[in-house]
Amino acid sequence: MKLEVRPELASVVRLPASALADALGGPTLFDLRKDGEPPLFVSVLVHGNEVSGWDAVRALHRELAAVSALVFVGNVAAAKAGVRALPGRVDFNRVWEGGDCPEAALAAEVVEIAATAKPRLAIDIHNNTGRNPPYAVVARADRSTLTLARAFSNLTLFATQPGGFQTRRFAEFCPAVTVEVGTPQDPASTARATAFLARLLAEGVQRADLTTLALFETTARVTVSADTELVPETQGYNFRTAPAGTVLAHAGTLSAWSADGREIGAEYFRRRNGATVLNDAAAIAMYTPDLDAARLDCLCYLLEPRSVHV
Ligand SMILES: [Zn+2]
Repeated sequence: MKLEVRPELASVVRLPASALADALGGPTLFDLRKDGEPPLFVSVLVHGNEVSGWDAVRALHRELAAVSALVFVGNVAAAKAGVRALPGRVDFNRVWEGGDCPEAALAAEVVEIAATAKPRLAIDIHNNTGRNPPYAVVARADRSTLTLARAFSNLTLFATQPGGFQTRRFAEFCPAVTVEVGTPQDPASTARATAFLARLLAEGVQRADLTTLALFETTARVTVSADTELVPETQGYNFRTAPAGTVLAHAGTLSAWSADGREIGAEYFRRRNGATVLNDAAAIAMYTPDLDAARLDCLCYLLEPRSVHV
């Protein structure tokens, strides 16, 4: 796996995400930097079936070419197959802090170029599989990062896990956020991604009133067994407090993992007639009704509100 670097974007903007693998040959960094100007770093398709970011880049390719920018187009092979990651291959959003696989080597190459370029900010555009309000994900809670997050949404997740996600690595050298713009099927998701990127391109990040930011921290990541029966209605609690007794699964075995890798399910839920229910009221996010997505990544996160001190 080799990183392709291209000096222009215009020749491929006609193509949908599924056609990029054949046109580009692999993950590609479009180097649209202008001398002496710190670039905007935009990454899309880190998950192959999350196409809103690429569609936003297509819509704004002229504006991107007019500023100093680096645009990373990630897992184009997965995009061709219409999946998050190719079966048996690593998740492209878990490789940014090191690893032995070819994807990690490629990510390290992108980081090297980006860190040297000193971006003014970095955004990584994703879609969700479940219904969530639009929200940002940060790995640092300093003023410039939260101001960037607030420019996208009043809901922000301070993610302590999983390791290796791109924003966590980029947070070491610039304000960095992941934006979760909605499901890939919803046309509003692309409109949202496009509007946010257009605003960053036109005016950068304006001052924001951070007292209006609802910041949550992930306290546990919930994983499932293969025989789990999910509860689609539970996704209605995403970014809200689900009451005690809320059913997380009708059947199967759930586990909850702390950031340091301990199984802490008993603190949050118990079995009741084969189902798994919350012990106490708890805020949840990213609950997905899609069992394949839950098995590949996770079912949901459990959250705690975190105060904003900047
Ligand atoms: Zn994603």
